[in-house]
Amino acid sequence: MSQLENKTFDQKITRRDLIKVFGATAVAGTGIFGASSKAFAKNAQHVVVLGGGVGGSTFAKYLRFADPDVKITIIEQYPEYITCLRSNDVIVGMHTLDELTFNLDTIKSKYNVNVVIDKVIGADYDKKTVRTEKGETFSYDKLVVSPGIDFKFEDYEGYDAEMAEGKFPHAYKAGPQTLELRRQLLAVPKGGTAIIAPPQNPFRCPPGPYERASFFAEHFKKHNPTAKLIVLDPKDRFTKDGPFKKAWERLYGYKTDNALIEWVSGSDGGRVVRLDAENMMVETDGGDYKADLINIIPNQRAGVLAQKIGLTNDSGWCPIERNTMESSLHKDVYVLGDSSIADAMPKSGYSANSQAKVCARAVADTLKGEQPGTAIYSNVCYSLAGENYGVSIAAIYEVRDGLIQPKGESAGVSPITDKVTQPILEAVYQKNWQREFVKDVFS
Ligand SMILES: Cc1cc2nc3c(=O)[nH]c(=O)nc-3n(C[C@H](O)[C@H](O)[C@H](O)COP(=O)(O)OP(=O)(O)OC[C@H]3O[C@@H](n4cnc5c(N)ncnc54)[C@H](O)[C@@H]3O)c2cc1C
Repeated sequence: MSQLENKTFDQKITRRDLIKVFGATAVAGTGIFGASSKAFAKNAQHVVVLGGGVGGSTFAKYLRFADPDVKITIIEQYPEYITCLRSNDVIVGMHTLDELTFNLDTIKSKYNVNVVIDKVIGADYDKKTVRTEKGETFSYDKLVVSPGIDFKFEDYEGYDAEMAEGKFPHAYKAGPQTLELRRQLLAVPKGGTAIIAPPQNPFRCPPGPYERASFFAEHFKKHNPTAKLIVLDPKDRFTKDGPFKKAWERLYGYKTDNALIEWVSGSDGGRVVRLDAENMMVETDGGDYKADLINIIPNQRAGVLAQKIGLTNDSGWCPIERNTMESSLHKDVYVLGDSSIADAMPKSGYSANSQAKVCARAVADTLKGEQPGTAIYSNVCYSLAGENYGVSIAAIYEVRDGLIQPKGESAGVSPITDKVTQPILEAVYQKNWQREFVKDVFS
C-alpha cells in the first residue's frame, strides 16, 4: 500500500491510483469493497495464510484487492478471535469480551477466501506444504505466517503456563484470563496492594502494561482509594513514559505520599525473578513485595507455530527481508506482525496491519513476476491513561540501511502537557480509531 500511503492528505486518490494499487478487476465490477464469489482457475496460484488474527486477516483481504484471481486459504485454530485491542478496558468494565469478538465469516464471503478452522502443526518447505492437527495437508505457492506471540515463563522461578490459566493470569492474550483478572481487581480489599510486572523488551503492545496500570489506578481512585498499585519493571524507560507519568501525576497523585501508583524501574530493582504463589509475594532484584493481586506479564518470543516450523533465529523472533516481510530463512514464506523482527516498528496491531498491506502488494507483484515496490510502513499506538485521557505515539517507517526506521521527522509522541483538552481529544481519537481499525481488519 506504499503508493497510497505516500499520498498526502490533501492529494485526491483517483480511480487510476486504486487500479494501480489494487488491480483493475478489483476496482471494476462489484467494486473494490465487494469482490464477488467465484471459482478459481485450476492452475490458480495458492496463497496459504497461517493465523487469522490482525496480520493474517488484513493480509488475506488486501491480497484479494491486489489480485482477484489468486486462491487464498486462511488456516486459523479458533472459530472466534478476541482482539487484545481494548482488552484492558474489559478488566475495568469499560467493554465486554463480546464486543471484542470477531470471526472470519466476512473475510470468507466478501473476499472469497477459503477459511479452515484447524491448528497448523508442521511445514515442509521443500514440498511447499503445511500440515494440520486434523490430518490435512495444504500445498502453497506462497505461505504467510502471522501467529502472534508466546511467553517465556521460564524467566520467572515459580511461574508457569498452568498458573497463568488459574490464579495468576497474565491476560496478555484476551479471553478467560482477562475476565479472571477483572474478578481479582474487584476483589482487592480496602487498602490492598496490586502488582503489575511488565516484560522486558521486545514485547507485544509496548504501552499495554502501562495503560493497564493506569486503569488499575483509576479503578482504585473511584472504588478503593486506599489501595495501591506497584509497577515492578525490568526496564528504566518505557514507551510514552513522559506523557504517561504526567498523566499519573495529574490523575493519581504519582510521586506524592498518597500516590495510587508507584513505578519501580529496573535500576531500582524492579525486575521480578520469582513468584511465591503460596505467600502472594514476588521477589525482585531489589527485594520482596507482598500483594493481593499479582499480574506478571511474561517476557515474550515469536508464536509457538513460528518456532515449530523453523522461522525463528537465536533471538526467538523471525528475521525478515525488510521490503517484503519475506522470511530470511525460507523462500516464499512471509512472516507478519508480532512474530517478525521489524526493528523500530513496535509489536502492535497497527504495525501488523501495515505490514500485511505491504506484504500483500509484494506477494501479488511477485506472483505476477514483477519486482515488489519500495515499502513504506506506518504505526500509531493510542493508549488511555484514564477513561478520558489519551496518549499516543506515531511514525511512518522506511527501509534505510537495511533496517525499518522512522522516516524523516515523521515520528511523534503526545506532548507532556497541563492542558485539559489535549488528552480528552486523544481519548476520542483512540476510541474512534479502534472502531474503524477492526473494520479494516475483519470486514
Ligand atoms: C492488552 C493489549 C492491548 C493492545 N492494544 C492495542 C492497541 O490499542 N493497538 C494496537 O495496534 N495493538 C494493540 N495490541 C497489540 C495487538 O493485539 C497485536 O500486536 C496484534 O494482535 C498482532 O497481530 P498478529 O497477527 O501478529 O497476532 P494475533 O492477532 O495474535 O493473531 C495470531 C493468530 O494466529 C493464530 N494461530 C497461532 N498459532 C496457530 C496455529 N498453530 N494454527 C492456526 N492458527 C494459529 C491465533 O489463534 C491467532 O488468531 C494490544 C495487545 C494487548 C495484549
